[in-house]
Amino acid sequence: MACRRAFCYDCRPSLKPDFLVIFDLHCHSTTSDGVLSPAALVARAHEQGVDVLSLTDHDDTRGLAEAIRAARELGLRLVPGVEISVTWSGHTVHVVGLNVDPDHAGLQSGLHANRAGRAERARRMAEALAGIGIQGALEGAYAFAVNKDLIGRTHFARFLVEEGHVKDVKTVFKKYLVKGKPGYVSHEWVGMTEAVDWIHAAGGQAVLAHPGRYNLGREKLRLLLTEFRAAGGEAIEVVTGSHTAEQVPVFAGLAEEFGFYASSGSDFHAPGEGGRELGRLMPLPGNCRPLWQTW
Ligand code: AMP
Ligand code: MN
Ligand code: MN
Ligand code: MN
Repeated sequence: MACRRAFCYDCRPSLKPDFLVIFDLHCHSTTSDGVLSPAALVARAHEQGVDVLSLTDHDDTRGLAEAIRAARELGLRLVPGVEISVTWSGHTVHVVGLNVDPDHAGLQSGLHANRAGRAERARRMAEALAGIGIQGALEGAYAFAVNKDLIGRTHFARFLVEEGHVKDVKTVFKKYLVKGKPGYVSHEWVGMTEAVDWIHAAGGQAVLAHPGRYNLGREKLRLLLTEFRAAGGEAIEVVTGSHTAEQVPVFAGLAEEFGFYASSGSDFHAPGEGGRELGRLMPLPGNCRPLWQTW
C-alpha cells in the first residue's frame, strides 16, 4: 500500500539531501535464502526508511519483477541485483551485480548453469549429515526452500535449528556447515572473471561482497582484490552486515588503495535470525567513493 503522508521523505528520496538518503544494496528474498517474499522485503525496507534498495538473491533474479512492482507502489528505488557464487583459488567468494538487466540472455544462462549444481550438492550434504546420525535433512531443507532451484546451506541450517540440533542458524554454520565440518561438501561454482563478464554483459557493475568474511589472511586477500580488479570489478562492499565496526575502515582503506568504489548493504535474510536489519548501516567512511555516485 502506498504511504499516505503528504510530505514523505521516505517516499520521495529526491527531497533529501544526499547524505540522508539510505542505501541498502544487498539483501535476500524467498527467491534464494531469505524468508520474506520480494514484495514483503521491499515493504519492510520502506518501513525501515530505506530509500534505495537492491535485491541481490543468490544466483537468481526471478524475484526482481515482484520487487520492482512493490517498490514502484511505495516510492522507493529498486536497483536490480544478483549475488553470484564464485570459486576463486579454491575459495567460495560472492560477487554482487548491481543494475543488471534481468532479461539479459547471457546472464540468465550463466545463472542457470551456476544453480544447476545445487541439487546434487544438497544431496551430498544430506548424505554427509546422515553419516553423523542426522536423518531427513534433504527433505527438511527443501521444505524451507520456496525456490527449489536455489536450495542452499541456509535452508539446511533452518532445518537443523527446527530439529533442535542447534540453537540458532549462526551456530549451525559453525558446527556443521563450514569447511572442515561434517555437513560441508566442497563445490565448484563459476570462475570470477566469468561472473564479472556476465554482470558487465547485462549492463551492471560488479561488487565484491563482504570481503572481510573470507578469512583469507592478508596476502591472499590482497591477491583476491588484485585479481578482482583485473577481472574488471568496480567496487567492494565496505559497509556490510558481515563486517564489524573495526573492519569498515580497513576495507575503506583497501578500496582507496586498490581504486575501487565502495558499496553498502545489510545482507538481510530474515527477521530475528541474527543478521543485520535492512537499512541499519553506518555511513561509508569519508575516504570512500560511493558506487552510487556513478549512477
Ligand atoms: P550457499 O550459497 O548455499 O553456500 O549458502 C551461502 C549462504 O549461507 C550465505 O549467503 C549466508 O546466507 C549463509 N551463511 C554462510 N556462512 C554463514 C555463517 N557463518 N553464519 C550464518 N549464515 C551463513
Ligand atoms: Mn545467503
Ligand atoms: Mn554472500
Ligand atoms: Mn548475501
